[in-house]
Amino acid sequence: MSEVREYLYKILVVGDLGTGKTSIIRRYVHNIFSSNYKSTIGVDFALKVIQWSPEIIVRLQLWDIAGQERFGNMTRVYYKEALGAFVVYDVTRPQTFEGVTKWKHDIDSKVTLPEAWGGGNIPVVLLANKSDLIHEGHGQQVNAEDMDRFCAEQGFLNWFETSAKEDTNIDEAARHLMTAVLKIE
Ligand code: GDP
Ligand code: MG
Repeated sequence: MSEVREYLYKILVVGDLGTGKTSIIRRYVHNIFSSNYKSTIGVDFALKVIQWSPEIIVRLQLWDIAGQERFGNMTRVYYKEALGAFVVYDVTRPQTFEGVTKWKHDIDSKVTLPEAWGGGNIPVVLLANKSDLIHEGHGQQVNAEDMDRFCAEQGFLNWFETSAKEDTNIDEAARHLMTAVLKIE
């Protein structure tokens, strides 16, 4: 009989205010969406338990920066021991894409992988959220080639067009990040 291994991963979800971070977490963890969610001030946590394979259980602890986005950066304490992150922007608001570089830099400068795992930057996935609104004619179509190039330049693992509202690509993005995190050890 093979032993079941359990992993606990701290995953950060950062990005500018109103980009849909809380909505993505709520969709992913509780499978709900609401258009008037009241954000709490401070840091929220949500836990998602995944039976990754017959031998592996992953507990994803998702950290949501409730209301502190306006400062544009977080403290080292907040980032401590994170093994992966999502940076979220809102496809209908180009200025939130400008925030992406800043958030990526903030992560890279404040957290690294454990020494035992060779240090280095934690894997980060970029989420172009509210894709449902593009399909309704708001905002600009996301150019896949430009995004691939941007991700390569900025050191993102990959990017996904997501919709918390319509539950598009969120599981896929999470699986992609988890695959990378599981490979670190
Ligand atoms: P946060 O500040 O980054 O946590 O953003 P919220 O999750 O609070 O979302 C901000 C607003 O955008 C809320 O009114 C959400 O209902 C809305 N929202 C979030 N994700 C989506 C999405 O995928 N599609 C649409 N249409 N609205 C979204
Ligand atoms: Mg929020």
